[in-house]
Amino acid sequence: KLNDMATSGILMSESSKLYEEAMKVLVGGVNSPVRAAIRPYPFFVREGKGPYIFTVDGQRLIDYVLGYGPLILGHAPEPVVKRVMEYINRGWLYGAPTEIEVALAKKIVSHFPSIKKVRFVNSGGEAVATAIRLARGYTKRRKILKFEGCYHGAIDYVLVKAGSAAAHFGTPSSAGVPEDVAKLTLVARYNDLDSVERVMRSEGNDVAAIIVEPVMANYGVIPPREGFLKGLREIADKYGALLIFDEVVTGYRLGLGGAQRYYGVSADITTLGKIIGGGFPVGAVGARDEIMDLLSPRGPVFNAGTFNGHPISMIAGLATIDVLETTNAYDIAISASRRLAEGINDVLSRSGIDHVVNWVPTMLQVFFTKGEVIDHETAGKSDTKLYLRLHEELLKRGVFIAPSQFEAMFTSSSHTSDVVEETLRQIEDSVKALKQV
Ligand code: PMP
Repeated sequence: KLNDMATSGILMSESSKLYEEAMKVLVGGVNSPVRAAIRPYPFFVREGKGPYIFTVDGQRLIDYVLGYGPLILGHAPEPVVKRVMEYINRGWLYGAPTEIEVALAKKIVSHFPSIKKVRFVNSGGEAVATAIRLARGYTKRRKILKFEGCYHGAIDYVLVKAGSAAAHFGTPSSAGVPEDVAKLTLVARYNDLDSVERVMRSEGNDVAAIIVEPVMANYGVIPPREGFLKGLREIADKYGALLIFDEVVTGYRLGLGGAQRYYGVSADITTLGKIIGGGFPVGAVGARDEIMDLLSPRGPVFNAGTFNGHPISMIAGLATIDVLETTNAYDIAISASRRLAEGINDVLSRSGIDHVVNWVPTMLQVFFTKGEVIDHETAGKSDTKLYLRLHEELLKRGVFIAPSQFEAMFTSSSHTSDVVEETLRQIEDSVKALKQV
């Protein structure tokens, strides 16, 4: 069955062999579920450079997945390679601090006015778990409020009505999460302050934190409506709950100060990940001193990790942020995302297919539906099968977008205008192919 390649027209024989091997020893042949969504099987990657990845079968793909967000400079950018190579030769794990974690923390503190101290962990999910524990420790309350469709990592507290692969595979609430845990997680509707106020009116006195993706990036891309984030800030304050911005995706993607600077609203606790490790494993929690000093070793809220502040992740993140600060990297990545959004819109309008393109700087997504996409429900109206076919037609033509409607397209500073124009030509042809069936 795996060799049924005639259907997709791409030769992926090495990938199919590797996938068969992988299926024997890895669950579903992969280590993270969305990777298995590529039909008839995932392509295996040999290397990446700039905007391209190269498969083991020799196919070159223009990459708009970018490791699901971290690679804002594209693959293997020289300045990051150089710093990582320098540092890796010195050794890489000491169970003692290094100067690099101080330097990266200083950068983050300089870019996010709401952050005075940072704790580095190893993934976005860990950052969120730590942020929630901190919020509970600080407020001495038990519950949290999240939004339907927001994804905050593969951790029990937030695997309730979640987006990303949890939505794609139809398991928004995971098996194995005890009822007793899930019932501490309340859910409201994104972009709907009334739904937040309703929940807070009845449960607000026991809500430790409202946690939100300031731009929902795990149900496609859904920007906050005017006033939504500011409204959350006010409601959190009114009920004495903390506001957690999960900026694992938006941090350093919407710009140096993340969504907080872009939208002009401050969080109490911020979670970061992805870009701040330059593509190496990382997560971080940041907040004002009064909150952060509750963490061990200063305070009673426990957090620890063998790999916390890993020197290679730290140096890769630092090198990445240096480039973002000192070059026109954002200009290129933002122009690419804007041109792509306009181009997709244009092609689909000309072909008469119902669609919406949502855009924020350096990220976008297309939904095949009429009307605006503002929350999980309107996003859920998209023709996800048509999206998957677009993904497949593009893959045949050398362009990689996520195999799930409920992810984002990301651009990087390596997506120069020639790369984007080539992509748009492939989109034009792909859309023609969609219309033919
Ligand atoms: N928060 C958000 C907003 C995310 O998009 C993700 C992952 N895509 C996470 C948290 C979890 O991060 P990680 O996969 O590094 O655990």
